[in-house]
Amino acid sequence: MPNMNPKKCPMPEQAPDVRNKNFEEVTLGYTAEMAVEEAQRCLNCKNKPCMTGCPVQVKIPEFIALVAEGKFLEAAAKIKETSALPAVCGRVCPQESQCECHCVRGIKGEAVAIGRLERFVADYARENSSEKAVKPESNGHKVAIVGAGPAGLTCAGDLARMGYEVTVFEALHTAGGVLMYGIPEFRLPKTIVQKEIDTLKDLGVEFVLNFVVGRSETIDELFGDGYEAIFVGSGAGLPTFIGVPGENANGVYSANEYLTRINLMKAYKENADTPIYHAKKVAVVGGGNVAMDAARCAKRMGAEEVYIVYRRSEKELPARLEEIHHAKEEGVVFKFLTAPLEVLSDENFNVTGLKCQQMELGEPDASGRRRPIPVEGSEFVLDLDCVIAAIGTSPNPLIRHTTPGLETNRKGCIVADDEHGITSKDGVFAGGDAVTGAATVILAMGAGKRAAAAMDEYIKNKNK
Ligand SMILES: Cc1cc2nc3c(=O)[nH]c(=O)nc-3n(C[C@H](O)[C@H](O)[C@H](O)COP(=O)(O)OP(=O)(O)OC[C@H]3O[C@@H](n4cnc5c(N)ncnc54)[C@H](O)[C@@H]3O)c2cc1C
Repeated sequence: MPNMNPKKCPMPEQAPDVRNKNFEEVTLGYTAEMAVEEAQRCLNCKNKPCMTGCPVQVKIPEFIALVAEGKFLEAAAKIKETSALPAVCGRVCPQESQCECHCVRGIKGEAVAIGRLERFVADYARENSSEKAVKPESNGHKVAIVGAGPAGLTCAGDLARMGYEVTVFEALHTAGGVLMYGIPEFRLPKTIVQKEIDTLKDLGVEFVLNFVVGRSETIDELFGDGYEAIFVGSGAGLPTFIGVPGENANGVYSANEYLTRINLMKAYKENADTPIYHAKKVAVVGGGNVAMDAARCAKRMGAEEVYIVYRRSEKELPARLEEIHHAKEEGVVFKFLTAPLEVLSDENFNVTGLKCQQMELGEPDASGRRRPIPVEGSEFVLDLDCVIAAIGTSPNPLIRHTTPGLETNRKGCIVADDEHGITSKDGVFAGGDAVTGAATVILAMGAGKRAAAAMDEYIKNKNK
């Protein structure tokens, strides 16, 4: 008999006024009892609608049925059949718009907490299984991966399991991409990401860090080194600035720089080498996950007032619901229907405020969302000492400038087919944010997975 409670089993978390002063994980995860109770809410539907919402096709009802029986390691193995990073996805996937939005329990109540169960199972397996991945026998073929984010890591893992000699070239000194340098510790502990990377090392994947493809070596030079196919998963790490006067004042950051200093370079720790400005009044411009992360970091770095400045209404906020909810609880103030007009600064060029304008929503634009329109005479000033731009990113142009024959579009994204990641250049495959522009972890992983299968086929055909 299923558990017919219309509500999800709640997950314990740190109290808002405690957690907004530390970088430890906000949500604490289910206990075994909670996981079993929540798993019993699953109706095990025959047509598995939840799976249609998962870009990597996790066998959701099957793993949840195993959780309900208390078979947690078996449940972890079931997820691992299709997903390389369950502890990550259980924490950061936008489940409300993916698997959970198709759950029939969501019609008359709350969907089954698929993300929380995935996280529980992955954490349980990490803590209770000593099983190590084993390097498969080599098939004698070398492949290269550019970028160690979720797209590159997934592609690397799948190819290594097929027996390829896989080398990942990563520009930074740490593998993990945004999982390491962007998403904060309090949402995704870095030991968890590192553990997933260590599993790839056990499979035989080699990581070459501090290696900028396009500078250290070009894609064509990598082919010259004997790599038979190359996957480009270099992400979309180039920030977009707001484009208002005064934006080059002291105290204006891109969210990328601000978060990298805090998360990758650990500026939140005492004695960190990386300096960061401990601002008191901060406005973050934008409404996505990046904006929420920057605002919540600013609070934890000691800011007394933190604003989210967003030009549309709450309904259009693109961030995960949980992040919005947590940001509000932690004291972040949302200024909806507000657009920045000018960054104000003093005679030393230090930020003193942000001139803003009230907006109202008009007709839908090309994106289908209602267009924000300025309200005349509604200007006002927020007193601040720091402004953080979190309005989007695009791919760094280095690879497209150094790779003849690689087609890119007007947004600077690599053109690759969605099914296989095939690009215009023979032997080069691509996926993740480098192709789609800034998107999500699970979409990047799906692209890496499909490209790995296509690279295998490409190499087999070439060597027939
Ligand atoms: C702050 C923040 C919060 C986010 N929150 C969420 C969330 O909650 N949920 C969610 O699903 N998504 C979230 N996202 C989006 C998600 O993280 C990305 O969509 C995902 O990481 C893309 O994966 P990727 O592998 O394509 O690229 P990335 O993760 O960007 O990895 C690309 C890697 O390539 C490396 N690289 C770049 N150029 C080169 C080069 N020339 N040579 C060698 N290496 C290179 C980079 O250093 C990087 O390590 C967030 C993004 C940010 C920035």
